[in-house]
Amino acid sequence: MRIANNAGRLSLVEIDRILDVERASGGSFDSDPAAAFARWDELATWAASVHVSTRPDATPLEDATLLAPSPLPRQVIGIGLNYADHAAESGLSIPTEPVVFTKFPSSVTGPDVDVILPGPTVDWEAELVVVIAKGGRHIPLEEARSHVAGFTTGQDLSERTVQWQGQPAQFSIGKSFEKFAPTGPFIVTLDEFAEPDRLRIAATIVSADGTETRVQDGETDQLIFGIDELVSRLSETIELLPGDLIFTGTPPGVGASRDPKRFLVAGETLITEIEGIGRITQRFVDRSA
Ligand code: ZN
Repeated sequence: MRIANNAGRLSLVEIDRILDVERASGGSFDSDPAAAFARWDELATWAASVHVSTRPDATPLEDATLLAPSPLPRQVIGIGLNYADHAAESGLSIPTEPVVFTKFPSSVTGPDVDVILPGPTVDWEAELVVVIAKGGRHIPLEEARSHVAGFTTGQDLSERTVQWQGQPAQFSIGKSFEKFAPTGPFIVTLDEFAEPDRLRIAATIVSADGTETRVQDGETDQLIFGIDELVSRLSETIELLPGDLIFTGTPPGVGASRDPKRFLVAGETLITEIEGIGRITQRFVDRSA
């Protein structure tokens, strides 16, 4: 099942067609995408009986206005240094416990947006994002996956100067500017992937002159703390809630670890892509633009 938020309405996607869930289900499901997570298993059962591509009430996906698939998560959890080679490039040791911060939920936005640069050191972090369906506390490792709605593509945009300001550092502030948590284009359930624990994840910068540079290219099987472990361990402290997002960390290749360092400038476009989910695209503009 591929779920999208089409202009604020819960929608089901199949290849290049999109279907409004509330209308197609005769009102059995709410139109609000945020309401879907609490009834995720019912939604999946219904969706399995629906053939979007042959339905006359489906519309072309290219005409859709895709917004954040979980538009109002109550919690957005970020995991730092969760790929060994990214920890190494950051000059930091491999964590023995997940490094946890928050991206405040007001930073969440959709897959295709313009982002105002709040400073000169905005960096990219391509990330697999776990979306929670059924919440809970003390979720056992072997039950973790049954709490996951699916995966989406995310960017953990980070203003590095703000992030590293002060002692201790200010991860949550440096990563929570307006539109610093773009997500989408869909939530894809885990049964859609041949190998859900090994997905290619990549980021590409397109310069104003059209030059494309692949800056990140990794695989999610390199995660230090995998999906089940994150869900289970986080739930020991935090009550996970339907619609919550977990940004699972980024592979190597961020701008701050390059020599020379590289940060996003106005006129550049960032494309982040995860195999089997799709791509999200951010264009960067100056504050004055
Ligand atoms: Zn990150």
